[in-house]
Amino acid sequence: MIPGADSGALIDLRSDTVTRPGPAMRAAMAAAEVGDDVYDEDPTVRALEQRVATLLGHEAGLFVPSGTMGNQIGVRLLVEPGAELIADADAHVLANEGGGVAAHGGVLTRTLVAADGRGQLDPDVLAGQLRAGDWHTVATRAVAVEQTHNRGGGSVYPLATLRRLRELTRRAGVALHCDGARLWNAHAASGVPLAEYGRLFDSLSVCLSKGLGAPVGSVLVLPAGARSAARRLRHRLGGNMRQAGILAAAGLYALDHHLDRLAVDHANARLLAELLRAGGLSVAEPETNIVLVDLPDAADVAERVREQGVLIGTFGPNRLRLVTHLDVDPAGCERAARALLAAARRESVT
Ligand SMILES: *Cc1c(COP(=O)(O)O)cnc(C)c1O
Repeated sequence: MIPGADSGALIDLRSDTVTRPGPAMRAAMAAAEVGDDVYDEDPTVRALEQRVATLLGHEAGLFVPSGTMGNQIGVRLLVEPGAELIADADAHVLANEGGGVAAHGGVLTRTLVAADGRGQLDPDVLAGQLRAGDWHTVATRAVAVEQTHNRGGGSVYPLATLRRLRELTRRAGVALHCDGARLWNAHAASGVPLAEYGRLFDSLSVCLSKGLGAPVGSVLVLPAGARSAARRLRHRLGGNMRQAGILAAAGLYALDHHLDRLAVDHANARLLAELLRAGGLSVAEPETNIVLVDLPDAADVAERVREQGVLIGTFGPNRLRLVTHLDVDPAGCERAARALLAAARRESVT
C-alpha cells in the first residue's frame, strides 16, 4: 500500500525518507550489473559516483550508506583532530549525527546561532569568527553549510550568500563543506544549476534516500585526489559494501525519474501551508518541501492526527514539521490539513 494512494490510506508526512521504491525502481535494482565495491569494481556504483560528481561539477564521488556517513567522512577529510569546524547551531552535522565528528574524528566544533531562524550563516558574522590558529589558538579548518536547511524549514541559501561564504573562506584558507542532503530541492526551487552550487564547495554530501526516493544511499562528492583517503575512512567506519550496485541502481533510477518532479513536492508543501494558514495556524511560507507549523503542545497534536491516519513529526515542544514527498499527492495534503486543523482545534474529524 502506498501512503496517500487513496483517501483511506495512511499519510506519512514525518519525512521524505519514508518513500518506498516502486516496481520500476525495484526492477532497475534487480537488473543491476554488480561487482565487489570494496575492490572498487562495482560498475553500477562507479557509474552512480561519476554521474553525481559530474552533475555537481566535481571530479569524484564515493557511494556511502547514509548522509550521516557522507558528512562524517567529508568533514574529517577537511579537519584534523583538535582543529575546528564551524557550522550553525541547528546543523544536522552537529546536532543530529550522534556527535560523530567529535567521537570519531576528534573535531572541535563551534556553532554560530543563525539569527534569521532559517539556519543560514551570515557571512558578515562568520568573517569575524574564522581563526588562523597558532601554538595557542585553535585553527578553523572548515565551515559546513546545509542546503537546504532542515531545521530551518527547508530554507534555500541564496547563491549570492554562498558565493560570499566561499570568497571569505577561500581568503582565510578555510575549506567549505556542504551538507547537501536536500541540495536537489534547492536546485529545484531556485533553478540554480547543480554544478554551480557544487563548484562552490570542497566537498558535498548528497542524499538519494530523501526526496529522490531511493531506499538507501548518499554520495560524497570531492576532488579525485581525496577519494582514496575517503575510501579509507569509509572502511574504518564499517561503511564498505560489497555488491552495492543493487542500491546504486536505485540512485541512478531516482536521478533519471525523480529529480525533475521535486517541484511537485514543493507545490504540495505550498498547498499544505496555504490550507493550514487559512485555518488560522501559524505557518511559514515553505521554500521547498518542508512545512513548519508553530503551535502549543505539538506532541499532543501530532498524537491526535496520528489517530486520523496522518503522521507528522515534531521539532521541539511547539513546532510541527511536515515534509512532502513522492508518496503524497494533493488529496493527501488536503486530508492531512483537515486532520491537523481539527486536532489543533481539538475537534474530532468525522
Ligand atoms: C537526512 C539528513 C542527513 C543525513 O541523513 P541519513 O539519514 O544519515 O542518510 C544529513 N543532513 C541533513 C540536513 C538531513 O536532513
